[in-house]
Amino acid sequence: MKARLLLVFIVIVSTAILARNSLSSAHLVVPVVTTRAGTPVLTRQQLSAAALHPLGQDTKLARPITTSQVSGAQPYLIALCRFADSTNVTPHAKSWYQSLFGSQYPGLDHYWQEVSYNAINLSGSAVAGWYNLPYPRAYYYPTDGSPTKTVAALQDCASAADADVFFPSFRGVLIMFNDTNNLCESGSMFLDKDGQNIAYRVAFLGTDCQSHQVIAHEMGHTLGLPHSSGPYNDTYDSQWDVMSTGGDCDPNFTSSYGCLAAHTIGYHLDRLGWIPGVRKYVASPGSHSTITLERLAQPQTSYYLMAEIPIGGAAIRFYTLEARRFVGYDSRMPGEAVIIHSVDTSREVDLNSRVAQVVDSDNNGDPNDAGAIWVPGETFSDLANGITVHIDSATATGFVVTINNEPQTTATPTPLGPPPPIITLSSVWATDGQGQMQSTFNPGDAIILYGLVVNPTPNALLVHYTWSIVGPCGSIFDSADDIGTNSGTSSFGQGGSIPFDACGGIYTFTMGVSYNGRTSSKSTTFTLINASVTATATMTQTTAPDLRYALNLPFVLKN
Ligand SMILES: [Zn+2]
Repeated sequence: MKARLLLVFIVIVSTAILARNSLSSAHLVVPVVTTRAGTPVLTRQQLSAAALHPLGQDTKLARPITTSQVSGAQPYLIALCRFADSTNVTPHAKSWYQSLFGSQYPGLDHYWQEVSYNAINLSGSAVAGWYNLPYPRAYYYPTDGSPTKTVAALQDCASAADADVFFPSFRGVLIMFNDTNNLCESGSMFLDKDGQNIAYRVAFLGTDCQSHQVIAHEMGHTLGLPHSSGPYNDTYDSQWDVMSTGGDCDPNFTSSYGCLAAHTIGYHLDRLGWIPGVRKYVASPGSHSTITLERLAQPQTSYYLMAEIPIGGAAIRFYTLEARRFVGYDSRMPGEAVIIHSVDTSREVDLNSRVAQVVDSDNNGDPNDAGAIWVPGETFSDLANGITVHIDSATATGFVVTINNEPQTTATPTPLGPPPPIITLSSVWATDGQGQMQSTFNPGDAIILYGLVVNPTPNALLVHYTWSIVGPCGSIFDSADDIGTNSGTSSFGQGGSIPFDACGGIYTFTMGVSYNGRTSSKSTTFTLINASVTATATMTQTTAPDLRYALNLPFVLKN
């Protein structure tokens, strides 16, 4: 379970409240929120890079993956194989798979042509089967904890199909079982057939993996793509990428192919060589540019398809920008917006790695909501690295953005101890909805979080603000904003309500203000009483029935 949030937060200033709190000497300003801060998430991302896969099998494979350009026809053999103990069970006719992989919408050939800008297609692919395997399901996929026999499954299915198939004419072999195998796996394996021992792209797909979305995801791995995700510890949380959980799962969807795959992200398209060099804008250090980003899916103009912003001049860390609009396989995206990913290629260990991670400014555990959806008028700021991205306007099929990349070029000599903050917080406090300072709250109560901010300079400055509330069951609020802050003393408040299911106990509200790399913060506590949930309640993590995971096998086999 993720941190619960206070909803509908606004930045306000109230002279009445200040008067009640005897802070009448405060000089008030009404902050105009014109920007949204990029949450400084790099530390968090570096930590999550080491995070385990939900099933804890990520870290065993250490072989680095190299992705090379993929172009032209990609013939896959789709081999239909029945376990020996269920040879009378045939989930779909051969013709169902033929149209699933076909070139008519939403066939996977059609899908990959759209995603790759026609760089690849599945010409030459074929469906073979159904064939019967010599052993029952439990032989290949034991339920007693002993290792799966994936190699045997490939060899036995291939042998059953051998009379009908000349294997070297295919690049990949996708095995479709007639029952669940409790895994959706893909990678590459050697197979010695028809006189040639060749490393094929392979996938093993039980009936619970046989949806348009999951097959496209596994095929993406076979093409060399890793996962992407939000900046948290969940591989399958980003709806912006088929290589996370992107897809259209509308229950009213009429296709018989289950969830439809969404597009993959700009970084992945670029890895596979599908973004021409002239269609990628690189915002080199020191650059200031206004460019137009054309939508990733079904582009209509010759503007840039993506932008890349090196962070601090490093080659392995950069942001990517891409425009997503409701069209084609992106028709059911969470929004029409510029999406920003933070890419760190040093995160890549294998294809389970999440190299690109969505920048989610509200840091609320959901990379598909407003915090990740950058729309005209908003500004992403990575102040530490001198990077800002302003979304200027929308075009018919994309967005105009202004990118500044001004990293600090010279390191200043380190003084004795950190310099004092320029902008300081002199006090923080919490009030009820009427502005009365309170030390106890009930679940559901309105709450306003205040801080008294001192700007000793004669100028209004853009100050980075953070707010957090941590209680006995974890964080219930975490937010950041850049706010223009006038000279003098100002009061800034954020209002919302305590979640009804918040745990009882003591909460710590911390506010921070940062300017020019220097931070001042203050905390206060309040007590949540009359809560129906206590801190002793066990936090349970729901494991979604997502069965994709990796095997620890001597070949690269990833989900
Ligand atoms: Zn996967």
